[in-house]
Amino acid sequence: MISVNPKGEVWVFAEQHGGKLEDIGLELLGRARMLGDKLGVKVGAVLIGDQIKGLAEKLCQYGADSVYVLENPLLEHYQTNSYAKVIDDLIHKYQPQIMIYGASPCGRDLAPRVASAIKAGLTADCTDLQIGDHESKAEGKTYKNLLLQIRPAFGGNIIATIINYDRWPQMATVREGVMQMPIPDVKRKGQIFAEKITIQQSDLPVEIIREHKQGKKVNLKASRIVVAGGAGVGSKENFRLVWDLANALGGSPGATRAAVDLGFIDRDHQVGQTGTTVRPSLYIAIGISGAIQHQAGMSDSQKIIAINNDPTAPIFDVAHYKIVGDLNDIVPKMVKAIKARV
Ligand SMILES: Cc1cc2nc3c(=O)[nH]c(=O)nc-3n(C[C@H](O)[C@H](O)[C@H](O)COP(=O)(O)OP(=O)(O)OC[C@H]3O[C@@H](n4cnc5c(N)ncnc54)[C@H](O)[C@@H]3O)c2cc1C
Repeated sequence: MISVNPKGEVWVFAEQHGGKLEDIGLELLGRARMLGDKLGVKVGAVLIGDQIKGLAEKLCQYGADSVYVLENPLLEHYQTNSYAKVIDDLIHKYQPQIMIYGASPCGRDLAPRVASAIKAGLTADCTDLQIGDHESKAEGKTYKNLLLQIRPAFGGNIIATIINYDRWPQMATVREGVMQMPIPDVKRKGQIFAEKITIQQSDLPVEIIREHKQGKKVNLKASRIVVAGGAGVGSKENFRLVWDLANALGGSPGATRAAVDLGFIDRDHQVGQTGTTVRPSLYIAIGISGAIQHQAGMSDSQKIIAINNDPTAPIFDVAHYKIVGDLNDIVPKMVKAIKARV
């Protein structure tokens, strides 16, 4: 645990793999910038790997004022122990007040290890991060300018705001796609610090012999049109309707968790709290009730069309265009009409 340091920077773990920055770190820099500006402190990015110095400039373009580069051949591949150790050392050296990580497989593994080593708190899977005060009635005291770590709790039935007033740095993970990626400013420059590292082979208990990476089957985040199906579609065979409409519109097929659990489509297509967060120009929800966990991943879409035979379905609360009826009648007609126009 480090001291409470209101002058400390706001840090982002800038995840990279194979010399390529992951989107999540860039998305987080946008929010870190907002938090840093509110607190009147600098934003720092922590970049770890081997031969990765060249990535630092890009992090400045996305909002970092300082980039801490931890470069060493022993850090070429992500490993929990080695990465946690160098971050732990860096936190003790610079005493940041906030550190945020992506809720990626790597961030989810690393952040708790750092939190445990440094005896700080950690809130996982935040959907929002703000700065605010906390009044402790018991102590008769107000804690100013804390990180408000906001996330759904109790199965998404409540939105909890979690604070950490004495176990700093205040740390959180955020799911990919939740924060909007900032527009880079190619003229923006920052300070780059090549950090000295004390790490040795014994800090690496795992020997990596070979890496096998499997990319996602679909990039829902980058799709301008998402056509998503739910349990109401009825079967894997009938899910062909969702694929047909997505193909006719040049979009990507998405799904609810229920549709995924029923085996209608692969998990990479899941939209929502535990799937991907999307903000396409057009989102078409077919046979989807609109549970809060699903809405968490799609309600920021620019235009939403919902097709459901239940006029009281909650999806209609967020839809711009509401079609009440049987999807088996409506979707083929839509596909036919679209094909007739092109
Ligand atoms: C911790 C947690 C995390 C979760 N994460 C996610 C997540 O990331 N994403 C997600 O989607 N869910 C998630 N869920 C699950 C979520 O709570 C819902 O169970 C799920 O979204 C429901 O999916 P659905 O709308 O496909 O199914 P249902 O709720 O069963 O809805 C089916 C809909 O289809 C309609 N329908 C049926 N037949 C027809 C027809 N012929 N024509 C037109 N409409 C028809 C029905 O009226 C109904 O509204 C999560 C749950 C928990 C507890």
